[in-house]
Amino acid sequence: MINIILLGPPGAGKGTQARKLVDDRGMVQLSTGDMLREAMAAGTEMGRRVADVMSRGELVTDEIVIGLIEEKITGGQGAGFIFDGFPRTLPQADALGELLTRRGLRLDAVIEMRVDDAALVARITGRFTCGACGEVYHDATHPTAKPGVCDVCGSTDMRRRADDNEDSLKLRLMEYYKKTAPLIGYYYARGDLFTVDGLGEIDAVGAEITRIIDARCC
Ligand code: ADP
Ligand code: ADP
Ligand code: ZN
Repeated sequence: MINIILLGPPGAGKGTQARKLVDDRGMVQLSTGDMLREAMAAGTEMGRRVADVMSRGELVTDEIVIGLIEEKITGGQGAGFIFDGFPRTLPQADALGELLTRRGLRLDAVIEMRVDDAALVARITGRFTCGACGEVYHDATHPTAKPGVCDVCGSTDMRRRADDNEDSLKLRLMEYYKKTAPLIGYYYARGDLFTVDGLGEIDAVGAEITRIIDARCC
């Protein structure tokens, strides 16, 4: 089993690559963004509490996301976990380290996906996902074969996120550079950091990630 973190700004391609690893290797994707959106859709108390913060593009509290992750790392993790969009702050990184140790697990690699800001705007404003199966699409770089119909599951429930606009992206990037980018140094110092060029095509980025995982694992 192998446990990895995908680290990168909004729109870097973390979710896209995580889904590939789920399909190809049977790994388990843990996306705190997806969990928070599910809580909002379900109308839970926590979901209502985070809605405003998320729509502004700010980070929700460490306590909430650490709690979400804690619930998921219980056992039966099979091929391993992909942490997608978590950790995003230094306290979250410390908490994850402690949690993994407590569960007898280790972190094998932190993969930083580098994409420059100009490309992120195009990525975010063209993103849509299938509401039924979660497949991530893009108007220009990864459209559906038939307009409005999911290639994977045939659903026509295509969704765009309320926070996927340029204003919110600016704030999310600010949060990323202020609070999340310090994790690059944190994991570099531990010898866990690997960097991939996130600007390549989806399959090329996937191949780079696979190479890193295979070199680290088993
Ligand atoms: P993206 O795909 O753009 O990187 P996510 O789906 O990961 O965005 O996250 C969407 C929003 O959910 C973030 O802007 C933030 O408000 C909240 N969020 C997700 N993960 C975390 C986290 N680990 N810590 C704090 N807030 C988070
Ligand atoms: P993140 O989870 O890091 O926020 P996503 O995986 O949701 O990023 O990708 C953001 C958008 O960019 C999506 O519309 C996705 O289809 C597209 N995308 C992802 N990876 C690439 C790539 N390597 N080249 C071009 N577009 C990509
Ligand atoms: Zn689908």
